[in-house]
Amino acid sequence: MLGQGVWWEEPYRIVQTNLRLIDASLDPGALACRVRAFGASVITFNVGGIYAFYPTELPLHARNPHLAGDLTGEMLAAAHGEGLRMIGRFDLSKGTRVAYEAHPEWFVHNAAGEPQEYNGTYQACVNGGWAGDYALRILREGLERYDLDGVFFNMTGYQPVDYSGRHRGMCHCANCKAAFADMFARDLPEREDFSDPAFADYLLFKRRTSKAAARRIYETVKALRPRTGVMGNGRGSFDFMRLEIQREVSRPAPEWPHQPGELARWGAAIGRGKAYSCASTNFLDFPWRYASETPHNHLLRFGQTIANGGQIDFYLLGLLDQPNSAPLQPVSDFLHWHAAHGEHLTGTRSLARVALYHSNASEVHAGATRTGKERKNAFRGAYRLLLEGRVPFDFVSDERMADEDAAELLAAYDVIVLSDAACLSDREADLLDAFVEQGGTIIATGEAGLYDERGRPRPGYALECLPVSRLVEAESGLETSVMVAPDELAFPETRLLHLDGWFFHAEAKPDAEASLTLLPTPNYGPPELCFVEAPAGRVPAVLSRRHGKGRAIYLPWLPEWLYFRDGMPEHRELMLQLIGQASQPLVRVEGAGPVEVTVRRKPGAGGELVVHLVNYAGQRQSAYEEPPALHGLRLGVRADVGQGRALVGGGAVKPGARDAQGYAWLEVPAVKHFEAILLQMAEA
Ligand SMILES: [Zn+2]
Repeated sequence: MLGQGVWWEEPYRIVQTNLRLIDASLDPGALACRVRAFGASVITFNVGGIYAFYPTELPLHARNPHLAGDLTGEMLAAAHGEGLRMIGRFDLSKGTRVAYEAHPEWFVHNAAGEPQEYNGTYQACVNGGWAGDYALRILREGLERYDLDGVFFNMTGYQPVDYSGRHRGMCHCANCKAAFADMFARDLPEREDFSDPAFADYLLFKRRTSKAAARRIYETVKALRPRTGVMGNGRGSFDFMRLEIQREVSRPAPEWPHQPGELARWGAAIGRGKAYSCASTNFLDFPWRYASETPHNHLLRFGQTIANGGQIDFYLLGLLDQPNSAPLQPVSDFLHWHAAHGEHLTGTRSLARVALYHSNASEVHAGATRTGKERKNAFRGAYRLLLEGRVPFDFVSDERMADEDAAELLAAYDVIVLSDAACLSDREADLLDAFVEQGGTIIATGEAGLYDERGRPRPGYALECLPVSRLVEAESGLETSVMVAPDELAFPETRLLHLDGWFFHAEAKPDAEASLTLLPTPNYGPPELCFVEAPAGRVPAVLSRRHGKGRAIYLPWLPEWLYFRDGMPEHRELMLQLIGQASQPLVRVEGAGPVEVTVRRKPGAGGELVVHLVNYAGQRQSAYEEPPALHGLRLGVRADVGQGRALVGGGAVKPGARDAQGYAWLEVPAVKHFEAILLQMAEA
């Protein structure tokens, strides 16, 4: 551990310049001055890897042919002269022809024996001599020369998809074959899907070898420069995280505007308190690296990022002289605002009482499960219904469940939502069962725990707490409805919730309590023959059961997937009412408008509470435009809070007396892109 006082634990604002070879003639002093004036506190700047931006002595490390002097060294001096930190950017994932010709065996070759060449660069194999040795020599050379404040590594790990989005095939080099045979005593898979019995092993192989590679890089840095921060992607070894927000136009519609909040929540869940940023990519997508996003999209991203405790990173190709310059002034204004208020926005902890379970294993092994095609949108539906229901929520990550403090992580919540979390390990199941035993509530949907963490089917449900024991039949393609009786939940005007897709008929435990009823599939034509029939026997659509001091609720279908697709309020309401029975949020927001609400507190900073509001009204399908300001919102805080202030609007806010439910209400000033309300809590 580094101890106290490292710079990345303070508020920071990175401008990442990705240099082109032709940028070698730039004026470092002028750039440092401009980045400082722009509002950044850190610049990310090229050092080496594919091309060196300094006079490297390593013969297989290509020098930028446009390089006259020592650009990296001059930039570091200029940055420090302006009071900026500098993160050195390395791309150790590829070499140029000179390296490839000297050592072709260091580089990726697919099953056909073809190298993964792209514009004269060659993808290095994680298990080859470039990644294992030469790249580390490049790194050492850079670190010996330059006292960098941080280091960033582009595109580490397995990258079978090239810049053009073409899948080039997994590596079949001799190193991969030997290492895989060593680990699993079998040949590499021929097909890259779960129809090949070796594929699941290959996924594990990639995780283990990537982790070892990240460790080698981390240790190389620390051996030379213990105080240089290693910026990582959340997996492997790192000091702080850089996650990246960008649009890929090839992603399936609809446009997903919540990427920053999703990444920041994941960063918080995974990071053991380490700092994380969500780099807002200035351009639309990689083929159009100079076509800027709108300023409003950047501000929506930054609003979500700070609402979820993230640091700030703005990622440009080239420098601050973009051909589409519209975002630059608004982003600069935001950075200056962040410089003034960053102390209230960073190093904070969420006070959410609800968590959405982020199951990486279910994502990785989606192809091995029945609901693999629906899984992502089910998760996003759950995300949206929590956000649109204005429930402050965090992620809990399965990638932390092997940790010693995993039970403590879970215990911070009243409710954990498992949205089609198909792949759960025995340990995860034990932890989640214990969470319920001790008074927590689990709301699980779909294929919850029907597979282990490597995607292998289980004989029953992994979770002991669930009101079901065994799957009887997985029915797909259902086009029917779920009936709500008048005395079930609070649906005064709604008797039917449409159901399309999966239903998991399961054996209920004797003490399971049933509510809502699956109806038989009706005719859908001709209309004379279409009527809702009463079911012959009851198939409950919600099952629940007490387990210890808590409760486990199981919905054997995917209402959140339907919500993602169709946006009908009853599916959202169903989930929110179940959550509301078990958890009362610390803050509530009333008034019309699409707004995300989070609440955070800085440990050790007395009683300072920050409530964040993010306005999505400027987003319409794929367009991100100026949002209309949201007027008339009211914020209720279930705590003794004194006067506060709006960090964006600037005015004072004054909560009234607490109401019968314990909420003290205040009028929120008009919210443009986002707002952060700072409140002092009375000492307990
Ligand atoms: Zn290989």
